[in-house]
Amino acid sequence: MKQFVFILISFLNFYCCVAQEQYSIRDLKSGKFTDDSSYIYDLPFENKKKVFLIQAYDSKMSHKGEFALDFKVKKKTKICAARDGVVISARGDSDKGGLKPENMSDGNHISIKHYDGSVAHYWHLIKDGAFVKVGDTITKGQVIDLSGNTGYSAFPHLHFEVIGYDGTGAYKQLPTRFYTNKGTIYLRPGKFYKAVHY
Ligand SMILES: [Zn+2]
Repeated sequence: MKQFVFILISFLNFYCCVAQEQYSIRDLKSGKFTDDSSYIYDLPFENKKKVFLIQAYDSKMSHKGEFALDFKVKKKTKICAARDGVVISARGDSDKGGLKPENMSDGNHISIKHYDGSVAHYWHLIKDGAFVKVGDTITKGQVIDLSGNTGYSAFPHLHFEVIGYDGTGAYKQLPTRFYTNKGTIYLRPGKFYKAVHY
């Protein structure tokens, strides 16, 4: 009987640990994490556009400790809103980009505030590529800008991140799941995904 109780406790302990670890960054990186209550974003590209995700969460290149995504796309790829909202910030006058420290302040961007208070940031956009301006109301899937290589960027790509309130009330970068040709998932680096708008 004692042995049985011991085995039972070990078994329960194992499951407790699994439950506690389900929100770990390791699972997010492997794409295992699922949270059915979180918003489902569209990929920020035109319907059926296939894109390569070069960096995801906590990537060693330039996303250490960050919940941000880098999509490798050619210059002038149409960037679409991943979620409805209002443009609260935009810049499109820079044509500089590179990996020097001063390039940190050279990036063009569009920032869209969603109705839950979170804000999506679309970075490294091309000079004068914007289709929208501050104050515009944006619908998910709407073309907002064109990709580029401005700011702290080694090659043309789109850096996408969402900042908002997490479950504890802290304002921080949030992991975002997407509706894709591979289902509703958290994206993994080194893979191709196709945008599916519905
Ligand atoms: Zn990035």
